[in-house]
Amino acid sequence: MKKVQMLYEGKAKKVYTTDNEDLYIVSYKDDATAFNGEKKGTIAGKGVINNRVSNHLFKMLAENGVPNHFVEEISANETVVKKVSIVPLEVIVRNIAAGSFSKRFGVEEGRVLSCPTLEFSYKNDDLGDPMINEYHIKALDLATDEEIKQISDMAFKVNELLKDYFLKIGIRLVDFKLEFGKCKEGIILADEISPDTCRFWDKDTNEKLDKDRFRRDLGHVEDAYKEILRRLLGE
Ligand code: ADP
Ligand code: UDP
Repeated sequence: MKKVQMLYEGKAKKVYTTDNEDLYIVSYKDDATAFNGEKKGTIAGKGVINNRVSNHLFKMLAENGVPNHFVEEISANETVVKKVSIVPLEVIVRNIAAGSFSKRFGVEEGRVLSCPTLEFSYKNDDLGDPMINEYHIKALDLATDEEIKQISDMAFKVNELLKDYFLKIGIRLVDFKLEFGKCKEGIILADEISPDTCRFWDKDTNEKLDKDRFRRDLGHVEDAYKEILRRLLGE
């Protein structure tokens, strides 16, 4: 499998067409952005770590019945994925209050939520990814009722699988963002699951092991990413 043409360069990855019309290659970058692109930087080794971490988790999810885009890791920072048409939603699942949830609702970070919650943002950088509800999604033809139900069910299933998986390696899964896409198989999980897209707190110390270290200038950013890789893959 080889790259034919770069289709898109995003904030964290490049997407390439391949000689197979159903497959793309994604290439993970060390670039990091936060606050809708206002804060920019690089995190040494992030591209390799996120590629490895994401692929490891996508394989685990596939084995547990969550259809997803992962096909094959072809280098330290590149992976073949199924081409999908991305549903323009950021699907956010939360177990513990943090970030924008804490700010919006005035609750302290770290409060364990009484049930896992789900929210959607409209994936649109120009608008700053505004929060959107199910009526808006339907009214704007971003997804149908049935698709919203499928996406929500899959997101909660992913949460249960990831929560248990991370707890076994001493990590509390605080919240995370998923993206879904449409292909011949129907709706499948796409994009990435990594310290860029999740909040991970150490179970015993609550130390942050994710992109919040970059967003909030907490230092030891690279170490946090490495620690996640080490706990997941022993590398
Ligand atoms: P952003 O677009 O937010 O800057 P990235 O730098 O991660 O994000 O770019 C990757 C892009 O590829 C995203 O727009 C994502 O929605 C898209 N994408 C992820 N997986 C797939 C896939 N399997 N098929 C098509 N597009 C995908
Ligand atoms: N998230 C993401 N991409 C985004 C927005 C959020 O991956 O564009 C992830 C983020 O890493 C966190 C979760 O989604 O794990 C919830 O983020 P939140 O809404 O609290 O936003 P933030 O505080 O990061 O602005």
